[in-house]
Amino acid sequence: MSELELMAEADRRAKSYLEGIEQRLPFPDQAARAGLSIFSEPLPYEGRGAVETLQMLDIHGSPATTASNGPRYFGFVIGASLPAAAAAERLMLAWDQCAATYDTSPIAATIEKIAGRWLLDALDLPRESAVGFGTSATACALSCLSAARRSLLSRQGWNIDRDGLFGAPEIRVVVSETVHITVRKALRLLGFGSVHLVTAPVDAYGRIDPDRLPPLDEKTILCLQAGEVNTGEFDPFAVLIDAATKAKAWVHVDGAFGLWARTSSRRALTEGIEGADSWTTDGHKWLNTPYDGAVAICRDAEALAQAMNSDAVYATASADAQKNLTLEFSRRARGIPIWAALRTLGRAGVAQLVDRHCNEAAWLADRLRERGFDVLNRVVLNQLVVRYGTDEQTAQIRQSVIDTGAGWFGMTVWQGRPALRISLSSWRTEHQDVSRLAEALSIAARN
Ligand SMILES: *Cc1c(COP(=O)(O)O)cnc(C)c1O
Repeated sequence: MSELELMAEADRRAKSYLEGIEQRLPFPDQAARAGLSIFSEPLPYEGRGAVETLQMLDIHGSPATTASNGPRYFGFVIGASLPAAAAAERLMLAWDQCAATYDTSPIAATIEKIAGRWLLDALDLPRESAVGFGTSATACALSCLSAARRSLLSRQGWNIDRDGLFGAPEIRVVVSETVHITVRKALRLLGFGSVHLVTAPVDAYGRIDPDRLPPLDEKTILCLQAGEVNTGEFDPFAVLIDAATKAKAWVHVDGAFGLWARTSSRRALTEGIEGADSWTTDGHKWLNTPYDGAVAICRDAEALAQAMNSDAVYATASADAQKNLTLEFSRRARGIPIWAALRTLGRAGVAQLVDRHCNEAAWLADRLRERGFDVLNRVVLNQLVVRYGTDEQTAQIRQSVIDTGAGWFGMTVWQGRPALRISLSSWRTEHQDVSRLAEALSIAARN
């Protein structure tokens, strides 16, 4: 089979997969998962055929996928793939661009610059900011926090690039009691051990309580959240960032999914967020672009460019070249699917996507309350934290709903109590899917 025939075959199989996406179980059944044993083969000495390899991947692999690209996947905040973004990704595979600099890919450098401007516009963040397209909110937090650390040390007269951390002035890091694990991970990788993190207590909703905000100074990084991972709540940015600005602290906002609220009628939740120094958000969650697509935004463009610089004698580039704004040197143009998503949705389409999920989440919460469920959060966004009766009943209800195929979602622990965590973030999810989920949950609770 020629290259072109092989690609057509892959497209045919992909098309057939997508045709069945609405019917697919949100989580693969036991038989499909058992079929994965076929992949447990030794590395062949002689290479196997490409057609056969693709066939194996589709025949035994496709059934064992979670249908996270479908309408009834309510786990984590996964998001599906918008057709335009997925199509752009397909074309990019043919291009095989190394999107490091203008020299390695004029098209990637050009579009990613535009995508960066559009993001600042859509999210209404300071237009002078640098925008790096990284693999994940985790990686982007690492980039932003390293820029923060470098800048605060530099203001203390310390050159971290040359002298490292030994003997450096101590940087204080204040995080929310409910900080996301990946921000902790980024901090850990940067040398901020967990016992040194200062915890900011939260209120009953999971937002940092400004009255109990630990002291801040010019050697402090304050990590805030737009969209707490369970409840979807937002820290009170205006008052917290005002305090941080007065103290000359650096404010970083983890907005992996929640930052998108700013594009919608829920914008008030983000009031004051524009005063921070850096922000991270994902394309692959709520914007529904393919993996891996995330964004590091840093008000002080130079701070990010210096922290992430990877110029070499054989590879120098402008300060806003993506290799100088992200962890990666060789990289996929992950800003292009984000550009395609923004261009095809438009400002209005992004707002509608976010609003629709928020409205459906509120509808679902009302319905579940009527049926005797305890909704533990306020449902300000697209997240529900729900219980029914005892811990055991709650877990059983989850399993019954998953068995019916009406939806998949995970468990969490909120304020010490195990609960169902339901998230709406797929562009494919329609009211009928949410209604079906509500029905399945109600039936499971009655039994
Ligand atoms: C998912 C998530 C992250 C991490 O994002 P990745 O892109 O998966 O690395 C960080 N913070 C919050 C609140 C999240 O939901």
